[in-house]
Amino acid sequence: MEKFETKISTTRGASRIVVGNGLLGQIGVIAAEEVVGRRAVIVTDENVRPLCLAPVQASLEAAGFSVEAVAVPPGETSKSVEQLSALWGAFNAFGLTRTDLVVALGGGVVGDLAGFAAATYLRGCPVIQVPTTLLAQVDSSIGGKTGIDLPFGKNLAGAFHQPKAIVADPLVLSTLPAYRFAEGMAEVVKYGCIYDEALFSRIEAFADTLEDEAERFAIITRCVQLKADVVNRDALDTGERMILNFGHTIGHAIEHTTGYGLMSHGEAVAIGMVAASRIGERIGRTPAGTTSRIAALLTRLSLPITTTLTVDDIFQTLLSDKKKLSNAIHFILLDRLGRAVRVPFEPEALREELLVSLCDTNR
Ligand code: NAD
Repeated sequence: MEKFETKISTTRGASRIVVGNGLLGQIGVIAAEEVVGRRAVIVTDENVRPLCLAPVQASLEAAGFSVEAVAVPPGETSKSVEQLSALWGAFNAFGLTRTDLVVALGGGVVGDLAGFAAATYLRGCPVIQVPTTLLAQVDSSIGGKTGIDLPFGKNLAGAFHQPKAIVADPLVLSTLPAYRFAEGMAEVVKYGCIYDEALFSRIEAFADTLEDEAERFAIITRCVQLKADVVNRDALDTGERMILNFGHTIGHAIEHTTGYGLMSHGEAVAIGMVAASRIGERIGRTPAGTTSRIAALLTRLSLPITTTLTVDDIFQTLLSDKKKLSNAIHFILLDRLGRAVRVPFEPEALREELLVSLCDTNR
């Protein structure tokens, strides 16, 4: 089996990252190397349970673990205080100790929720992330950010908790609905835009062969390495890691304005990347032609590049979000494909740019 390994090493902990086709059945071996205890609670969701639980559980049991599995309802609503509390209860009932293990088996929702439950139970238990969506494999499982939503906003309670290991098996993505895969591809395209023009070109070729296992493996491992590198340089997200927000500032505002759940995160980010690139072109920072190249690729990946929302709605959301930080709105733009830069905007100037860029996008 072709296997890729890398690691994250921070002052708050280290993570071993392993990517391999068919790795789901080898998690027990990796887990036994990473923790001393031999109890494991697998947290998953009700969609992933029938697809992925059996090989993970069997592998942990074969490695000597006593295993309990808990499945939460699928979807963002499970990132709640209620589900967090239910997990703490399950950990307690199972007699989990600080040397035992929590396994987060699922997409970003399970990763964030189970990661936060592990970060907080007994002041911190080891966790292994086993991401099963493309978005989770290339992004959310890597970097130690965990958390839940609160009634007043998304991801408002959380902790940095580096997993002991991240074990990604690209073969599990075969059961993802096409639109979920496309959503993850928005993040993959983002890595190409901000860090690696060669990756961007490779995705342009990959867009015709999305089922190709070898290409999937190559593209996922490149993204994993890029995310691991930036986390190594900025573990607590106070500097360079903000580059990862390319397309996300407008994307979040679009998601928020539309109402979470009505438009997917990946779709909103796709529109946001096109608008950000166009703003870069307008102010002379991004080479002409970059936006049309990004837009063409996203369209081939079945992602939207336009929105029917009004600029005023998006701008108001953007402003209320960013005012908490300072008056200037920091925006990630491209110096060129493969290189991103953080640019501060006065709110009114940004409004003007948004107006033109989103109108252009809508044309
Ligand atoms: P998700 O976890 O809701 O998964 C999407 C859907 O796919 C769910 O219905 C799930 O049951 C299903 N699914 C998962 N794996 C599957 C498989 N192999 N086959 C078929 N169906 C499968 O959503 P997501 O997009 O993975 O993650 C989104 C979450 O990630 C958000 O809550 C977001 O805030 C969070 N996030 C966190 C970080 C971070 O750094 N911690 C970064 C980005 C996003």
